[in-house]
Amino acid sequence: MSDLLKKDKEFVWHPFTQMQTAPEPLELVRAKNTTLFTADGKEYIDCNSSWWVNVHGHGNEHIGNAINEQFKQIDHAIFAGATHPKAVELAERIVNLLPNPLTKVFFSDNGSTAVEVALKMVFQYWHNKQEPKKRILAMNGAYHGDTFGAMAIGQRGYFNEPFEHFFFDVDFIEFPTEENEEQLLHQVELLFKTNEFAAIILEPLVQGSAGMRMYSIGFLTRIVNLAKQNNVKVILDEVMTAWGRTGTYFAFQHTEIVPDIVCLSKGLTGGVLPLGLTVATTEIYDAFLSEEKTKALLHGHSFTGNPLSCAAACASLDLFEQAETWENVKRISEANEQFKMQLSSKAVENVRCLGTILAIELKVNGESSYFSNIRDEAYGFFLENGLLLRPLGNIIFINPPYCITNEELKKVHEKLLEFIAIQETKA
Ligand SMILES: *Cc1c(COP(=O)(O)O)cnc(C)c1O
Repeated sequence: MSDLLKKDKEFVWHPFTQMQTAPEPLELVRAKNTTLFTADGKEYIDCNSSWWVNVHGHGNEHIGNAINEQFKQIDHAIFAGATHPKAVELAERIVNLLPNPLTKVFFSDNGSTAVEVALKMVFQYWHNKQEPKKRILAMNGAYHGDTFGAMAIGQRGYFNEPFEHFFFDVDFIEFPTEENEEQLLHQVELLFKTNEFAAIILEPLVQGSAGMRMYSIGFLTRIVNLAKQNNVKVILDEVMTAWGRTGTYFAFQHTEIVPDIVCLSKGLTGGVLPLGLTVATTEIYDAFLSEEKTKALLHGHSFTGNPLSCAAACASLDLFEQAETWENVKRISEANEQFKMQLSSKAVENVRCLGTILAIELKVNGESSYFSNIRDEAYGFFLENGLLLRPLGNIIFINPPYCITNEELKKVHEKLLEFIAIQETKA
């Protein structure tokens, strides 16, 4: 074991990791474009964009320069009672990208906090209006982050079990499929008619952590319309789905709907620095305006509006204004669609694509689960083949940086086929 790994073992507690049994972590020394380099001289294609955040590739010079330039101006400063150019620029540009009523940008640090802020906004919105609606509707399989509010509205199970008795009550609907959509919408309508619902929160079109599960544009449109008709606020958690991941800036742009609140993070800074944004409509914002200080949104974080993060996000937006970024998104989407059409294997339960996401659900005996053995086998297989690809249980998926080359993507597709072929021999 190298010195670094020895010290890592001695001093570091890794996320989502059983430290007693986990294999040694990769010893990373460098990252450039899609490639991660390790101390032992190996290279890995970062097939999941370093936990779904890195959209333009590693070491992007434009983003790096923007952070550098910003550091020379203001590194960090308080954001209560003060402001600075990059936060204002970012807020204006985000508002210009979103449909008209979404006009107010609140800053925080990550996806979980963007969601916490959204929850606090809707609950306090109704509180301030003296219509204390307290119920909230979420979807089975949802993932909205690891803080308490975000956990409460997420899938209950192994991950959250030790904390579950602390969670507030949440109504969950089943995951929509072709078979149950009508019945679900009917059920939701009855719930909304109680007039007790403050909000509905959804990951639009794709549930990330549930295994890149996809549902229809029609369902998303209709459930949001039901919410609108019944005065239920609509929060869309675009933390994973935004920034071209599904082929458009935001996933909800596949529809005509307009949410009341949008949560953004992950690829927002190009995946280079932490930043979360919660964008609300003028109408929600206005409910916090008052002579009374207690009606304000009394929430904030030490690093709210961090100028370096804002500069990185603005630089990432510059890159999204270049045709090349969208050509890459299209190129990856088309290659994935091609791959999907060619794939037919008795080891595969289901293949799905949306934009730059390609997910393959492998058949397993019994229930599919995050702790499925196939997961470890797949992870090991891909590492040996120079791909860093973290499956979710029996679901193998790629959501690569958009600068992935055709050769790299071809290699990824080939290795996916190889792994599936191995599974087929076992079936
Ligand atoms: C990752 C994720 C979050 C949480 O974001 P963090 O930055 O990890 O706190 C929230 N919602 C969705 C949909 C996510 O994919």
